Amino acid sequence: MRLTFLGTGTSTGVPSIGCDCETCTSNDSRDNRLRVSILIEHGGQTVIVDTSSDFRQQALRHRIKWLDAVFVTHCHADHIFGLDDIRPLNFRYGPIGLYANATAWKDIRRIFKYVFEPSHFGGGLPQIIPHNVEPGAPFCIGNELQVTPLEVIHGRLPVICYRFNDFAYATDLSEIPPATIDALQGLDVLVLDCLRIKPHQTHLTIDTALAYIEKLKPRRAFLTHMAHDIKHARDSALLPQGVEFAYDNLVISDE
Ligand SMILES: [Zn+2]
Ligand SMILES: [Zn+2]
Repeated sequence: MRLTFLGTGTSTGVPSIGCDCETCTSNDSRDNRLRVSILIEHGGQTVIVDTSSDFRQQALRHRIKWLDAVFVTHCHADHIFGLDDIRPLNFRYGPIGLYANATAWKDIRRIFKYVFEPSHFGGGLPQIIPHNVEPGAPFCIGNELQVTPLEVIHGRLPVICYRFNDFAYATDLSEIPPATIDALQGLDVLVLDCLRIKPHQTHLTIDTALAYIEKLKPRRAFLTHMAHDIKHARDSALLPQGVEFAYDNLVISDE
């Protein structure tokens, strides 16, 4: 399996517009973070998690030519606003399966009403095959990619994290319920939310992310969804062995 970080930044992206802080003015490319998303390639299947606000740029940068599925964690703007930009893939190859939980579907249908209830003539629309996901109900994409949706809590909002075989992607969360803790054992790679250093109501921070990593004991862990409070080189010293800050364009492979 091959995982590519398409974006590792919080909702504003890093640099943050108008900010002159040490991270936002850094020359280290690892401090430049598009909005969060990952690309997974395995067994001939290519999938992404979330269509971030930066999806177009990410797809061009990584020469994405086709997607077998798009998995939605939740319907906050930074995770879904790139949905309209799947159209060039649709024009060329047809509709794409979009997987989300019932809460996210309610918001997707409201925000992208023009997709589901077209009101004008002309103009291309995203072509989507809707799929519902249920926490703890696994399914397969192709023959070799098993996907298990699991529930995590983002403040008060239930968000879906996805386990792909022995890789898992859990962003935008402040709490991991016991059933999900059990389902995230034995991982090779865990990608986990980590907004910043100071406490936050709806996100994990370095301390709380490390506490969950201690419980889940993945072989390797990568932190994502970072704000400008975290400067890659400076703050990497805060992390134990086996845990790293992810950065845009980083590729992790088990092959
Ligand atoms: Zn987010
Ligand atoms: Zn800044």
